Amino acid sequence: MTIKHLLFAAAALTLGLAGCRSIQPIAAPNPGAGTVAAIGEAGPEANPTAAAARLSAADAEALTFLREEEKLAHDVYTTFAELWDAPLFSNIVESESSHTTAVQRLLEQYGVPDPAADNPIGVFSDPTLQDLYDELVEQGSASLIAALEVGGYIEEMDILDLRAKASDVAGLERLFDNLERGSTSHLKAFVRNLEKAGEPYQPQLMSADVYETIVAGETDTGGGAAPGASRLRPAG
Ligand code: MN
Ligand code: MN
Repeated sequence: MTIKHLLFAAAALTLGLAGCRSIQPIAAPNPGAGTVAAIGEAGPEANPTAAAARLSAADAEALTFLREEEKLAHDVYTTFAELWDAPLFSNIVESESSHTTAVQRLLEQYGVPDPAADNPIGVFSDPTLQDLYDELVEQGSASLIAALEVGGYIEEMDILDLRAKASDVAGLERLFDNLERGSTSHLKAFVRNLEKAGEPYQPQLMSADVYETIVAGETDTGGGAAPGASRLRPAG
């Protein structure tokens, strides 16, 4: 049994004890901890060095993390689309696919190695995201309601992470805004689907204030991103 298996077993135990609704928030990932997959030698000669020089280490780490965080959404929803008869998942899969590809393009543009490379569904370089993927799939395999709750959890996490990693590099700012718009509309869709099923949604990671602003607001959220918005808290 490997360390990862032990961690997963411990996490599964925690989840089992905590019950269906309260997925434990995962500690903020350590960007340096992930083993970044090596990229091939045959990169394009598009002067990536000059571009990379304009990107801070924090922005490069943010992009590296977001590439796999968007892949996580894509992979979890792909798995749920096969498990559950709910068109919502297959609809959102396409959106997540375009999100992770958009991040990949920026990584390429700035000459930052791609952590996802050719990794198949459910495989991640970042160990935190790997554990999270395993947990969320297990959680959402219990019932359709649990899967929709996992969807809400993922979208809340994505929005909070995007806000925490906000960049003032124009290309990144644009990308993060687009990703947040996507996540906001996905979160609302999960909330609607749960309400239709008679299961009112409670925010799992966001403060009530941030959640209300996002769900009540128009899809294009502009001014709601206070610095404190990234503060995670367990579900009540
Ligand atoms: Mn997304
Ligand atoms: Mn999403």
